[in-house]
Amino acid sequence: MPRHHPTAPEAMQNLITQIRHNLPIEQPDAYLCRAHCVGCPKKLMEYLETEILDWEAALERGDTPTLGDINKLAKSSRKIHTVMVKNGLAEPL
Ligand code: SF4
Repeated sequence: MPRHHPTAPEAMQNLITQIRHNLPIEQPDAYLCRAHCVGCPKKLMEYLETEILDWEAALERGDTPTLGDINKLAKSSRKIHTVMVKNGLAEPL
């Protein structure tokens, strides 16, 4: 069977699913605000949640992300994940 290469919208959707699985998106401030913060996990999650919600809405409208869009979100979510691990709020991958 020929291998199915994901379309750009599918690739973006897969990335968003991964981010939602690996990072505490939509957790309350009480969960994110710890005594000793490295950076500000709360702001990072707010930023990433906005990015994700924007893309989910765009995908629902039928917009097609560019490879650059996907790479940009992948890169920022990787950086944010590293900070969240330092805060004990995500597992190392
Ligand atoms: S730095 Fe951010 S995450 Fe940490 S306590 Fe303050 S607002 Fe909360």
